[in-house]
Amino acid sequence: MNIQLVDLVSLHKKLKPEIDAEMEHVLSTSYFINGPIVQELEKNLAEFLSVKHAIGCASGTDGLIVGLMALGVKPGDEVITSPFTFAATIEAILFVGAKPRYVDIDPQTFNLEPAFLTDVISEKTKVILPVHLYGQGYKLPEIVEIASKYNIDILEDNAQAFGATYNDKPLGTFGKVSATSFFPAKNLGAFGDAGGIFTDDDALADKLRMISQHGSKLRYHHEFLGLNSRLDALQAAVLKAKLPHLSEFNQARLNAANWYDRYLASANVKVPYREPNSTHIFHQYTIVLPEDGMRDNLQEALKKHGVPSAVHYPVPTHLQPAFKDKNYPEGSLPIAEQIAKRVLSLPMHTELTESQVQYVSEKIVECVGRA
Ligand SMILES: *Cc1c(COP(=O)(O)O)cnc(C)c1O
Repeated sequence: MNIQLVDLVSLHKKLKPEIDAEMEHVLSTSYFINGPIVQELEKNLAEFLSVKHAIGCASGTDGLIVGLMALGVKPGDEVITSPFTFAATIEAILFVGAKPRYVDIDPQTFNLEPAFLTDVISEKTKVILPVHLYGQGYKLPEIVEIASKYNIDILEDNAQAFGATYNDKPLGTFGKVSATSFFPAKNLGAFGDAGGIFTDDDALADKLRMISQHGSKLRYHHEFLGLNSRLDALQAAVLKAKLPHLSEFNQARLNAANWYDRYLASANVKVPYREPNSTHIFHQYTIVLPEDGMRDNLQEALKKHGVPSAVHYPVPTHLQPAFKDKNYPEGSLPIAEQIAKRVLSLPMHTELTESQVQYVSEKIVECVGRA
């Protein structure tokens, strides 16, 4: 059986006519930077997320950087985040000269645990940066309440949960600003790097837009330090064609997750916990092995049966050589450290069939046994 971790080829075959039409329009007008398609997409994205302003940018990583810059984060400031995330979250904090301050994660949702926040808040804390990992949110009202009590801004890393809601409110609308990624394998993916930034605040929207375009509103007049991080018009064309299908894509992932849950019900692994207040868009379907050392065996066994899998993420950020900080030695964030040794992400995409999911699940049970 041919099973892929992510299957963008089959999805493209279905959507090709719609995408080709949008791309052809860009090519025929040769309006490659900014232009009407980017504005149309931004309007559609803002509507989709129920937010006032959407600003396209070059990647999710840039969205986080531009977001932190617009919030005025400077060298010496501190940003509180999760150690169990993709490197980009931490790169953004370090790029603006700030320091990541970590709180450990909730062992079920793998998102930062707000109960630990007050322990690390200081006068230097400028921003809380929650990451909605794998596609769902966790205790957002608690984070919002603590942030407003201490007068700290929230920037949401919504790269994996664009389209999910918490208490019926879209993730990406809880903070003063949020950033998402349209990396090809994300739930809404472009044909290359692309990202988006979202806010309800008019003045901040202006600033975000200017920072992403060389700190300039009027050409060759530069008011802030900025960068070149625009959303490419051809990527905007792809996204404009795909956005109306995003809810179907997320439903297809949810169906696959439901099949996995069913076929893995008796397996000696923990299937993804679903936070009752959140919807889950299953950017990843990530199981947890009951003991350290079991994951490598399982991954090897699956590979022998033609089943790919991946580890998101094998090393928590505080233990990455690039981000080492003497305040966070090994053992300082024990939940994230243990989870990093035990998680395994299974094939997850819009094109999975029930028989593929059943096959993968059977191979898992053969390897790890029943609970
Ligand atoms: C993908 C991702 C990013 C970065 O997005 P890019 O578009 O690849 O720059 C940031 N944070 C998280 C959690 C991600 O999954």
